[in-house]
Amino acid sequence: MDLRPLRTSVIGSYPFPSWLEHASAHLERFGPDDIAELQADAVTCAVKDQLAAGLDVITDGEQTRLDFNLSFYGHLRGIDLESAPPRRWGPPAHDQRGRHRILAPLEAPKGLGALEEYRRLEGIARDLGAPGRVTLKASMPGPYTLSGRLVPNPDLGYADRWAVAEALLPLVRRELEALVAAGCREISVDEPSMSCYGHREDVRRFVDLFNRTVEAISGRTRVCMHLCFGNYKARAIGPRQIAPLFPAFLDMHCDEMHVEMASREFSELELIGQVARRRDVAVGIVDVKSYYLETPEDIAARIRRCLEHVPADRLVLAPDCGLSQTARWAARRKLQSLCAGAELVRQTL
Ligand SMILES: [Zn+2]
Repeated sequence: MDLRPLRTSVIGSYPFPSWLEHASAHLERFGPDDIAELQADAVTCAVKDQLAAGLDVITDGEQTRLDFNLSFYGHLRGIDLESAPPRRWGPPAHDQRGRHRILAPLEAPKGLGALEEYRRLEGIARDLGAPGRVTLKASMPGPYTLSGRLVPNPDLGYADRWAVAEALLPLVRRELEALVAAGCREISVDEPSMSCYGHREDVRRFVDLFNRTVEAISGRTRVCMHLCFGNYKARAIGPRQIAPLFPAFLDMHCDEMHVEMASREFSELELIGQVARRRDVAVGIVDVKSYYLETPEDIAARIRRCLEHVPADRLVLAPDCGLSQTARWAARRKLQSLCAGAELVRQTL
């Protein structure tokens, strides 16, 4: 693929418009056609914002994952509705989400929904006249991350989280292959749990699981991997350090590896050189957790620091993480600055 230097990209999610937040809390009042309309309208908003910013890579903003039924878990057969979260009050955090029990062998007879999301995005981007250089990226959670919200069930052969992940792997792989067959040229295989829990698990085991997940699509599409430190309710989990994950994670079969930098004040920046030796490196250049709005000049200065370690044609620029936990007005301006800052540097190359 012929990509321009300092490609601008996103991780995947984008904030819901206010009306979508409201509607998703009252989905029972909508019919299936109303919901389809809501989803298409929401994706249109996300796509318009991203195109207006001038990004090279856009997503559907994950606008259609509104509730259990419309999420990946809703596509899984063999699980029950989410249990009540262990903690319901107090400061927001990841422990305020429930988990699903496994009641029967895990299956996804109609796929996991990412293909449908991609087709919707493709149609909307076409209707909006997205420029030819814009790449449409799909995102699909990997089996380890998906397994985190499922309670293992030894009676069904799912003894622990790893066993659940192994059972999900073929379902995820099939969805990834369907995306490639549909013409999807870039896929983010999201495994935030791997980078969040790398400090307490066997990182080599993560790499093996990741590589087996993507083995059928490697070389057939651009595979992206985001080293996430957690952003649910804009909170991190686990130590925010890349070094302990390396060198093992460098063996992951991906074409682009994304590292969170802006919120960590660019600590460990020199490690992007190691990443870029084998693949493109995407750098989180915009802090999605801060309401300080980066200026194009801030962005340009950050890019120049990255260029001390990697060549421009190996460097992709993105926010630190998905933007779903950032207010839309701020997300929009941060993306605009990201693209404007990249252009400032591009002119001097
Ligand atoms: Zn993230």
